[in-house]
Amino acid sequence: MVNTQRSINLEKDQVKIGLEIHIQITALKTKLFCGCSSDYRGKEANTLVCPVCLGLPGSLPVTNKRAIDFAIMVALALNSTISPRTTFYRKNYFYVDMPKNFQISQYDKAGGVPLSIGGIISFEVNGTVKKVRIKRMQLEEDPARLSYYGTIDSSPYTLVDFNRAGVALLEIVTEPDINSPDEARLFLQKLRSIIEHLGVSNGDLQGSMRCDANISLQDGKRVEIKNITSFLEVKRALQYEIIRQKQLIRRGSTVKQETRHWDADRRLTISLRTKETESDYRYFPEPDLVPVEISQTWIEEIRSKMPELPDERKIRFVKEYGIPEYDATVITNSKALADFFEECCHLYPDAKKISNWIMTDLTRNLKDLGIEISESKIKPKHLTDMLRLIDKGEISGKIAKELLSKMISTGDSPQTIIKRENLLKIGDEAQIKKIVDEVFKEFPKAVQDAKKDPNAVNYLVGQVMNKTRGKADPEITNKLIRKMLAELE
Ligand SMILES: [Zn+2]
Repeated sequence: MVNTQRSINLEKDQVKIGLEIHIQITALKTKLFCGCSSDYRGKEANTLVCPVCLGLPGSLPVTNKRAIDFAIMVALALNSTISPRTTFYRKNYFYVDMPKNFQISQYDKAGGVPLSIGGIISFEVNGTVKKVRIKRMQLEEDPARLSYYGTIDSSPYTLVDFNRAGVALLEIVTEPDINSPDEARLFLQKLRSIIEHLGVSNGDLQGSMRCDANISLQDGKRVEIKNITSFLEVKRALQYEIIRQKQLIRRGSTVKQETRHWDADRRLTISLRTKETESDYRYFPEPDLVPVEISQTWIEEIRSKMPELPDERKIRFVKEYGIPEYDATVITNSKALADFFEECCHLYPDAKKISNWIMTDLTRNLKDLGIEISESKIKPKHLTDMLRLIDKGEISGKIAKELLSKMISTGDSPQTIIKRENLLKIGDEAQIKKIVDEVFKEFPKAVQDAKKDPNAVNYLVGQVMNKTRGKADPEITNKLIRKMLAELE
């Protein structure tokens, strides 16, 4: 009986999600505490290493000042309060990805001061503004990258690549203000847009933005999900975990406080270990690094160089290009999309037309392909060339839709595709007349009906379009059909 009662009140607001986001500062050329290159992708394993990032005894770390510059910039963008004096701490643990047995990180207790505290990210959820509070932001080093044969729980071995060890990570911790997997996705989209507008990190790079999530239902125990390696996976992982916890509650068992691993291939979470508490990490100040003093002058210097943020860009898009606020919000939620839109606007005068195509057909095509604009092959010039062809009456709207999806998948210009596939509009009256004659012969009943039923006229027009794959000029087709029907009477 208790079970059914429990299952009734699983409303949305009883889901509490907090996120811990790890963002690699990919704008940096070197690692956080040594001069090794941080550009490890595609490089031979364990070649970008030195005694510091391998964690050899006696090696001494030195803080990368540029990393602090970028961190200050992000803190300013999130309205987070920057600590005038911030310290590094050792987070002790034993694992193959960190042979020195501790990670240099920051801590907000036991005298530790993280880089910044507080802050807010606002974003739109179904037309209303949602605010998620930031708890803190800190700098830490990325551990080495591990690869498994197959899955983590069945692999006979673990491979370790230290090229990633020591890469600068920004960790942003939110309060548990997020109430659904969808909100989590929207939140991350906004955060990514901010980070990319700042030029701090490139979210297209595999593993550059990762996320851990903690989630609780009905104020129950918190479960932490690790290893969500891309923002796209977050929604999936959270949905899975909510269903798993609901089922446990329905069956009358309790949710254990634990850490679970997200397995993206099998799309499920696996229990890793009962959650360690913070005291298990034995945080203490890193004795090899001096505290970093962040003066007001330093902060102001960074502030004066801040690039335009998504919210500012949104307002500018509405003002400068006259597009609706809704369009501007959606477009600026992705830096790549906003860049694409703006480049189109430099090439073609009607911004609303551009935004219409971006908001509908372009977005739908990308969604169907499961890719982002940056991964697609379409260029702004292709879209604006296509709009000019419509304006000149050389292609119909229907052909344009076909063209757009081909431009996205092939990267070819509209002119090339039209030539290859013979898509130009048929504007020649004699040529259309021939097809109308054919249609009249094939559909005598519709011709009879068309004398009094406008729907039947449309049907005949549709048949002409079918035969010409949408290439017949609709105006000429309509005119011809009406003329021929009048002649029949
Ligand atoms: Zn190194």
